[in-house]
Amino acid sequence: MELKIKTYGDPVLRERARPVDEITPEICDLAEEMLRVMHQQNGVGLAAEQVGRREAVVVIDIPPGADCDKEKNPLNPDAVMPLVLINPEITESSKKKESCEEGCLSFPGLWAEVSRPAEVTVHYTGIDGRPQDMRCRGLLARAVQHELDHLNGTLFIDRISYARKIALKGRLKKLQEETLESHLL
Ligand SMILES: [Zn+2]
Repeated sequence: MELKIKTYGDPVLRERARPVDEITPEICDLAEEMLRVMHQQNGVGLAAEQVGRREAVVVIDIPPGADCDKEKNPLNPDAVMPLVLINPEITESSKKKESCEEGCLSFPGLWAEVSRPAEVTVHYTGIDGRPQDMRCRGLLARAVQHELDHLNGTLFIDRISYARKIALKGRLKKLQEETLESHLL
């Protein structure tokens, strides 16, 4: 299986994912390949749509030290990386929000500030088939929300300010055109 990152303009990025009924060897291969592609591009999260697949699968791998508070204590000490989240769902979101610059492997070179709940709880099935609940903060909370959005066909540019979207309009149009051109080759 050789998968490639789908960029903005590819219609698959607007699709909704389909729940995974059973963790088959094919799902394990998909998760493994998604991690490989994500690492190759130095990303910290990837959803199946971003490689042109419809299964509700997300992978996340945040490097140690990248998700700490001011005293350098890890914000999510119990999260064991890399994470494979199957059929993930957010069951709780904090009222408190945080704003931070976000990027996305489907939008190379593009960054924008996005406001999201600071803490969330995600319910998911692990690659071992066990249902789990995970409370997340910091970068992990942000990555979980960004990737779960992908599974619903929502992109981070849908959550940025109107002013920022206007400012990025030209670059978004160019990216869309490049994606369409690459399809024609
Ligand atoms: Zn993304």
